Amino acid sequence: MNDALQEKLALLRQSYRDQLPTKISELSAAARPPATDDEATTRRYLETLEGMAHKLAGSGATFGFPDITISARSLELGCVDALNQQSLSIQVAVDTVGALVMALQKAVDDILVDDVTKAADVETAIVSDISKKLLLIIDNDEEAKHLNGEFENSGFAVHLVKHDVDLERTVKKLQPSAIVIDISAGEEKHPRLFAIDRLRKRDIFEGPLIVISGDGDIHVRLQAARANAESFMLKPVVASEIIDVLDQHLSSEGGDDFRILIVDDDVSTAKYTEVILQGAGMVAEIVTDPMRVLEKLDDFGPELILMDLYMPECDGQELAIVIRQQESFATIPIVFLSGEDNIDKQLLAMRSGGDDFLTKPIKPQHLISSVRSRVKRFRLLRSRMVRDSMTGLLNHTTTHEFLANEIARAVRGKSKLCVASLDIDHFKSVNDTHGHGVGDKVIKSLSRLLKQRLRSNDIIGRMGGEEFAAVLSGTSIEEAEKIFNGIRQAFSDIEHPSGKQKFSVTLSCGIAEFPARKTSVELLEAADKALYTAKNSGRNLVRLDSA
Ligand code: GH3
Ligand code: MG
Ligand code: MG
Repeated sequence: MNDALQEKLALLRQSYRDQLPTKISELSAAARPPATDDEATTRRYLETLEGMAHKLAGSGATFGFPDITISARSLELGCVDALNQQSLSIQVAVDTVGALVMALQKAVDDILVDDVTKAADVETAIVSDISKKLLLIIDNDEEAKHLNGEFENSGFAVHLVKHDVDLERTVKKLQPSAIVIDISAGEEKHPRLFAIDRLRKRDIFEGPLIVISGDGDIHVRLQAARANAESFMLKPVVASEIIDVLDQHLSSEGGDDFRILIVDDDVSTAKYTEVILQGAGMVAEIVTDPMRVLEKLDDFGPELILMDLYMPECDGQELAIVIRQQESFATIPIVFLSGEDNIDKQLLAMRSGGDDFLTKPIKPQHLISSVRSRVKRFRLLRSRMVRDSMTGLLNHTTTHEFLANEIARAVRGKSKLCVASLDIDHFKSVNDTHGHGVGDKVIKSLSRLLKQRLRSNDIIGRMGGEEFAAVLSGTSIEEAEKIFNGIRQAFSDIEHPSGKQKFSVTLSCGIAEFPARKTSVELLEAADKALYTAKNSGRNLVRLDSA
């Protein structure tokens, strides 16, 4: 864990400890028997105590005070028991909870007497810089060399190792974004394969795992499935197939800047969760008033909601239903984070639209990895809707929407913007000569080239078939011309395999510029017209809109 995070957690723990005297005196006051002895008063008395005990139970162990959680939980259950009794009298209530309140007071006193605040017992939150490193585990030198060569210019740095490597050490040191392992048939349970699976379960490795093998036998495939591999490929494999799979998995992850909304009426617990998530590089914000959740959703645009179950005015279950009623948040993951350990109540909460239930106190690393895997899955599903499934680029509709946003931004910032329209030359004859499958690979190779050459905030869309569009913000048409001429040249240099032969393909491109063209429709039309000019002037050319 980094020192800054450690320090923040220690401060939070200290401030929680400082609040304990107030909390416990409030509880003692509430535990004093009321003057009137009727059932409604008694019920209210017990419910108030139950609520206070519940909060302490949820937060105590989180801040490193497990004794508080134990005593508070007993009190909470005592209240529930008393509430379930047939004839409710104040005498019975006080008899049931009196000793429990005292035990809780004692637990708190013990902590306050113990002046030395120990550093919170929190596990390491690994914050790693994930660039695209590929760990390739393969014994055959010849094949290793060949594959390694194919990965050149792929954007992946390949590290070759053999099966006898110290896997855990290598993975910890290298922090690969993906692992490819070559396994052979015959072994009952391939030890290395399952070692990788264990590393993933321990959150030491988080990326995709690809198994390659010379044997497509069901036993080998089963092993890959049991080790939770993302993909199985039969040898001989070419690097481009591996890259395809990796692109799919890695692009859906996006950055680690997950946006998490924490909904919890208890400020100290919420802060604690916030610090943990921020320490893992996530963007976290807190809402302590459940009635303000809806406005916060719109402002913040979270990708996951971590929600307390019991809150005043409205509880987590109800809130989940209300959130789900909003069209744009209908699919957002909602994870309940609560001290509730009754499995029936947990299941009930899940039925109202929760996706998961985490019980407080939770280990930081466990919280981080649950949140991370949920958000990744959410991003993957969402990307299926806005992206073209073959290339992972934005689809036609989304490209239009994003272009309109970029224009609005350019208007506000008084900046330039370019739209390029690209189309592969004589693509029909590629299909006719080499088959549709090879044609698909050509389309993917262009999409990859565009992703590599353009900046990560440029918009790249597949507009249909072999037609693409790109939006470059803050770029003049002269700069764009240079960029796309580079792309045009690089694309024509690619040698596409087709059986034993190789062939090359060219593209044509037209570019238009904002503010010379004002709207998204005008820009795209002008870029298309320039593209048409390029086609008519002989293809393999970049042409500019003349406006
Ligand atoms: P030009 O140089 O004028 O652009 O000629 P062209 O043959 O590239 O243009 P045309 O638009 O006539 O043909 C495009 C072809 O692209 C026709 C269609 O079958 C093919 N195509 C469209 N989508 C896909 C796809 O997803 N995969 C493959 N393999 N082919 C596709
Ligand atoms: Mg074409
Ligand atoms: Mg076309």
